[in-house]
Order: sequence, then structure tokens, then C-alpha cells
Amino acid sequence: MAEARIIDGKTIAAELRGRVAAAVTELNKIHKLQPGLAVVLVGEDPASHVYVASKAKHTMEAGMRSIEHRLPADTSEAQLLALIAHLNDDPDIDGILVQLPLPKHIDSNKVIEAINPAKDVDGFHPINVGRLATGERALVPCTPLGSIILAKTVRPDLNGLEAVVVGRSNIVGKPVTQLLLRENCTVTIAHSRTRDLPGVVRRADLVIAAVGQPQMVKGDWIKPGAIVIDVGINRIPKGDGKTRLVGDVDFDSAKAVAGAITPVPGGVGLMTVACLLRNTVEAACILRGLTVPAM
Ligand code: NDP
Repeated sequence: MAEARIIDGKTIAAELRGRVAAAVTELNKIHKLQPGLAVVLVGEDPASHVYVASKAKHTMEAGMRSIEHRLPADTSEAQLLALIAHLNDDPDIDGILVQLPLPKHIDSNKVIEAINPAKDVDGFHPINVGRLATGERALVPCTPLGSIILAKTVRPDLNGLEAVVVGRSNIVGKPVTQLLLRENCTVTIAHSRTRDLPGVVRRADLVIAAVGQPQMVKGDWIKPGAIVIDVGINRIPKGDGKTRLVGDVDFDSAKAVAGAITPVPGGVGLMTVACLLRNTVEAACILRGLTVPAM
């Protein structure tokens, strides 16, 4: 059997960012609208600083305004909630993203629930979670949305496919399950208590792995020809004192069996920021009663 097609997240994400930038140019020309994304970062987590810098760069490259709030690690919950209230009221802010994880003394759920759902470009507010579950229009979490876009580049119609999601987190596993239901897949959601996980994954025409366990999903768990979307981002030692990034799927063995597979890096990770930009344009349009452009 031929090796899997490698799903090129880098190119697909660049194309999506290009469509977002074109939509922004049009909105600017016709409505004098330049969407603004506020990103709030609390503390010194190095990975979070890298993510926030990348979000700001891509926001500006797409022609939007990027507003960063970098707060010290000892910021109180009340101070953070006051900033969110200010951003909710600011008509120049269309999207609000609070970079997770927050320091332990701050209740993340309380902060997420304080964001105006119409500006919740991460799609984590319970109102957006509920709307996604009931099939209403919602701002959809970025990584799950990016995962579905990648799968549809291989097979535009996912209707009727047997899909297995490994992982049931609120930020990936659960929302991606809702999106797969929207696409008329038959969905199984597996987790750490699932019996015979390899047997469950072997049923899937489409596997979404979001477990946070390096290279856990092996090639002999994959049904020949299946589409494999690897959400995992794990850093493992390389042996020379350095580290490298790997996914939740054992890429080398899986690519020998799958029909198509996302690499790590170069897969889902790049789609997350592109979908964030897309959500910011969507939020800006809905806030002003404008039709959301195709992106
Ligand atoms: P969480 O730790 O929140 O959830 C992991 C899920 O995997 C849980 O539901 C857990 O089950 C399940 N799980 C853990 N171990 C096993 C196992 N041995 N067998 C079966 N299921 C298991 O992780 P996230 O959803 O936040 O992230 C998952 C991965 O995706 C991580 O590698 C993360 O870095 C990456 N990620 C990538 C993003 C991107 O932009 N590409 C964005 C967000 C995350 P249980 O519920 O039973 O504990």
C-alpha cells in the first residue's frame, strides 16, 4: 500500500490567512472596518509568550489591529476581571483572547465566563459551547475548527464517516466531537478509561488524536486508508541534550497505513492561529450586523 498523503498544514493555514486578509481588505474598503483582537497574557510562561507573539504578528499581517495586555504573574483575579470588563465595553475591540493557562490563584472558568460571548474568539464561553452543541451559530474553538478544515481538504464531504476522537477535553476533544456531528459523522469519543483503545481507533475512517501523550497512537491502531489528524504537541528529548516536537500519533508507523495524515510540527498547530483570525473577522461582522464574508 502507498504511504499516506501528508496534509500540509503550513500551506493550508497560509491560504486561510490569505482569505482572512482579503476579507479584512474588503471590510475596510466598504465599511471602514479594521477588526481588533485583544490578547491578554498573565505571567511569564515562556510557551505562552511565544504563542502570543505569533498571534500578534499574524493578526497584523492580516491587516487587523492587535492589542496586547501583558500582566505580571501576581495580577489578582479582580484586576483581570476589571480588564475584561473594560475590553467588553470597548467598541474598538472585536475579539478577546485570554491566553491559558492562567496562574493558579486565578479561576480560569470565572475569567472565561466574564468575556462577552460575542467577543469570545476562543469559543470557550459556556454560551458558545452551548450554541455549538445545539447547532446554533457560535464562535467555534480554533484548534477543533482547524482540525476539521484539514480533514476536509482530503475529503470535502465527511458525511457518514466513522470518526474516533481520542481525548475529551473542553478545548479540543469535546468541541471537535460537536463539529464532527455537524458534518454527519458517526462519532466515538475515547479517553483514558476507554476499554480496548486500539480496537476502538481501528474502526475509524477519521481519527482525531488529542491526548497529550507523545506518539501514543500506533500505526497498527489505524484502519488502512484512514484520515489521521494529530492535534498533539509534545516536546521529547532528542538524545543530544536538545528536544523535538512530536504529536500524539506515532507518525512513522501511522503514515505507512493511513490514507492521509497531519505532521507535527506543520499540521494542526498552524491552523489554530489562522482560525483565530477567522473568528475575529466573524465576531467583528456579527457585532456590527454585517454579513460574515466567506473565508
Ligand atoms: P488534556 O490533557 O486536557 O486532555 C487529554 C485527554 O486525553 C483527556 O480526555 C484524557 O482522558 C485523554 N487521555 C490522556 N491519556 C490517555 C490515554 N493513555 N489513553 C486514552 N486517553 C488518554 O489535553 P488537551 O485536549 O488540552 O490537549 C491534547 C493535546 O493537544 C496536547 O498534546 C496539547 O499540547 C495539544 N494541543 C494542541 C493545540 C494546537 O494548537 N495544535 C491546542 C491545544 C492542545 P481523561 O479525560 O479520561 O483524563
